[in-house]
Amino acid sequence: MFNLIIFGPPGAGKGTQAIKISEKFGWKHISTGDILRAEVSHASPLGLKVKSIMDSGHLVSDELLIEIMESVFIKNKTAKGFVLDGFPRTLNQAQELDKMLLRHGEKLTLVLALIVDEEELVKRLLIRSHDHGRDDDTEDVIKNRLVQYHRHTEPLISYYKEKKLYQEVYGIGSIKDIFNQLCAAIKP
Ligand code: ADP
Repeated sequence: MFNLIIFGPPGAGKGTQAIKISEKFGWKHISTGDILRAEVSHASPLGLKVKSIMDSGHLVSDELLIEIMESVFIKNKTAKGFVLDGFPRTLNQAQELDKMLLRHGEKLTLVLALIVDEEELVKRLLIRSHDHGRDDDTEDVIKNRLVQYHRHTEPLISYYKEKKLYQEVYGIGSIKDIFNQLCAAIKP
């Protein structure tokens, strides 16, 4: 099983590239943002619980995310690989992911980070807000999501560097060029 994390700040293009990678290699794409947004749009008990947290740009609790991940993982145990997009986002989530994979006789294969400067990120997120009307894409919320990224998610870079799993790809350019660079780093 190829267990890949697409890593990067909000607006880096993780979702776009994760979908393309999962289609090319036949792996299961897991976007925790999409899963949570689906719960919100169905107004499920979970969705009602997380809506205001997501709308403010804060992170949903680790416990909830870990529970969601494990249930998706178990449902897809026959997959040839996973492309994780938006998870893990905290050190605790990363450690719990390692433990969960171990429990299922698996381990992480690779972490591919998309590198995009802050100015470009804000620009992209504002455009997305205009085009898709996502409730968490207003300017203040965007700023908060970037703060949350620097505070909680960026420390994962050294966690994965120490494990020799971490590689970077420059995330500015055409979707196709970036995709080709990601594919070159994957070599399944
Ligand atoms: P983006 O990558 O554009 O920041 P996502 O679609 O991945 O956005 O996530 C949207 C929101 O969902 C986050 O701001 C957060 O509130 C919640 N979320 C998604 N994944 C996680 C996670 N792994 N841990 C905590 N919260 C999460």
